[in-house]
Amino acid sequence: MKAERRMKKRIAILGSTGSIGTQALEVIRKHPDNFEVEVLTANNNIELLIRQAEEFKPNTIVIGNESKYNELVNAISSLPIKVYAGNDAISQIVEMDTIDIVLTAMVGYSGLLPTINAIKSGKNIALANKETLVVAGELIQKLAFHHKVSIYPVDSEHSAIFQCLTGEGNNAIEKIFLTASGGPFIGKDIEFLKTATKERALKHPNWDMGAKITIDSASMMNKGLEAIEAKWLFGLNPNQIEVVVHPQSIVHSAVQFVDGSVKAQMGLPDMKLPILYAFGFPERLKTDFPRFSFWDYPELTFQKPDFKNFKNLGLAFEAMDKSGNMPCILNAANEIAVEAFLNDKIGFCEMTDLIEKSMSHLSYIKHPDLDDLIKTDKETREFTKSILNK
Ligand code: MN
Repeated sequence: MKAERRMKKRIAILGSTGSIGTQALEVIRKHPDNFEVEVLTANNNIELLIRQAEEFKPNTIVIGNESKYNELVNAISSLPIKVYAGNDAISQIVEMDTIDIVLTAMVGYSGLLPTINAIKSGKNIALANKETLVVAGELIQKLAFHHKVSIYPVDSEHSAIFQCLTGEGNNAIEKIFLTASGGPFIGKDIEFLKTATKERALKHPNWDMGAKITIDSASMMNKGLEAIEAKWLFGLNPNQIEVVVHPQSIVHSAVQFVDGSVKAQMGLPDMKLPILYAFGFPERLKTDFPRFSFWDYPELTFQKPDFKNFKNLGLAFEAMDKSGNMPCILNAANEIAVEAFLNDKIGFCEMTDLIEKSMSHLSYIKHPDLDDLIKTDKETREFTKSILNK
């Protein structure tokens, strides 16, 4: 019995009530012999967190919003589950000895410090929080190397590349093809985009995701952030990353090796697949998910990205080229811009203006340490908000 228990990977899910978090729990629910939930954390959604705690009986749960601590304690008082509250508690809980993998599924910059703590305490990371690598990719990679920690990508494109690289040893990558669905506004021009509403931006054709990433997807910022994420995950130069718009979202990305051969990973668009691959690696576990059929997709199409109308993509590549703290500035400005768009304070294209102004205003640091990045993030948010309120 004991030996069997140790075979199970014990998982901490940071952001368990969000889109990736709930899908990760679906994966765990279907593979009770392989995985168990050790820790769940949520920011605000106490109702769902309580239900998850009752079902999965983790060792510990943490709620970010401290004002909900008492309510949470009372709701699960009959269960032997430890309860903590606050963002510091979320950052520290990943140090627990009994965690094997930390799934970082919180939104945006908030994933940075918990991820760093998890790496420092030797935990393997299933990385769903791309902003962490965008903001601090160099630092994270150095830390992961130093602490001998593996980072398993959960982003579907990066999981695809990771799957293509599995078994390739040290074979060199010539380039990668990062596929993009193009989002709900594919083929639209600037006149359309200027008046695009959040209701339409939130309707993604293929993927079911949280609000922030869905807006990023509509503006193509998501693909820019993913290019930066790929640069750090796979040790690439920016000129080795090519974005390919592929509206059917079946080819999840591809790797071209030095001999010219291209390997792609395909499947139906379902985030549970990359989550399962990250949790199960190096094993592939059997699932009953719907299967892809070529006969349902007689046409898979590919086109160049539209840098002219979707300026965020170009800004992200510019930030990637400049490197240093520029991706941190890009990310912070974008988080403020997306929030403002979702709150009907600005139009769709004004998000780009805010990011562009922030990138040219904040001071550039070529080799930022963590404190520089924390400061850059804070100053960028302040600046972006200040021009927003003008
Ligand atoms: Mn993705």
